[in-house]
Amino acid sequence: FLKGKCALITGSTSGIGLAYARALAAEGADIVLNGFGDAEQIKALCEELASVSGGRAIFAAGDLTKREGTEAMVATALAEFGAVDILINNAGMQHVAPVEEFPVDKWDTIIALNLTAAFDACRLCIPGMKAKGWGRILFTASAHSLTASPYKAAYVAAKHGIAGLTKTLALELATDGVTANCISPGYVWTPLVENQIPDTMKARGLTRDQVINDVLLERQPTKQFVQPEDCAALALFLCRHEARNITGANYNVDGGWVAQ
Ligand code: NAD
Repeated sequence: FLKGKCALITGSTSGIGLAYARALAAEGADIVLNGFGDAEQIKALCEELASVSGGRAIFAAGDLTKREGTEAMVATALAEFGAVDILINNAGMQHVAPVEEFPVDKWDTIIALNLTAAFDACRLCIPGMKAKGWGRILFTASAHSLTASPYKAAYVAAKHGIAGLTKTLALELATDGVTANCISPGYVWTPLVENQIPDTMKARGLTRDQVINDVLLERQPTKQFVQPEDCAALALFLCRHEARNITGANYNVDGGWVAQ
């Protein structure tokens, strides 16, 4: 049902972003990948996605911690496809440290990547969506857009910002055929989670197993990690015609985390 639609997914060389790309390609969407990674692997991913969709899949480079990076990424997508119909703001990073020791450069980078890049990508893609009278803007927010955890000041602040940006866009675009919604996962087993285990061990003085069972899964009543494909299935639904009246929503995919 997405044949002829172009989907730009930030941070889609890995994890949840790649799962979105695969799910949308399976419905025929043209895909614009973005993120870091090995050039050969990214080329192979584009080939995989294009063969699944029967359309095109390209890579749009851009370091989204820098405004010029976001602008370059969107420019590549617009040059190739004319407009972006589906924008998924997904790229993000984490840093774990007590607030008084939080490295100020990490604060700046996390706000730039997790919040400002999403604003810039929206700003640049919305004119094309408005012109077509159809668009879907999605954000991978987080359970941390609705609740907090200690030692994650920048991430929690940025993700709460994303939740607010989503609501604002929903109101501004309500009569343009463009919806804006958040998908808010709990802990999903991806490199982002795996990489924060050593810092959490240090910040809390725990072993690896203790971090997994007593810190991460402690928050999720299901005692299971969310899978990237769970988020992708929801994203796909939010792109459907039947989801046209869903806007400004923030969906938890968190095994019951924020119900507590
Ligand atoms: P991941 O580390 O697997 O993927 C992150 C992606 O972002 C990669 O493609 C990476 O190359 C890209 N990226 C990183 N820095 C970038 C930059 N400066 N410019 C462009 N791309 C960059 O992580 P993930 O777990 O799939 O995370 C995706 C999103 O989901 C993030 O916004 C994250 O905050 C959010 N999230 C993840 C979890 C989880 O438990 N994994 C939970 C809630 C929310």
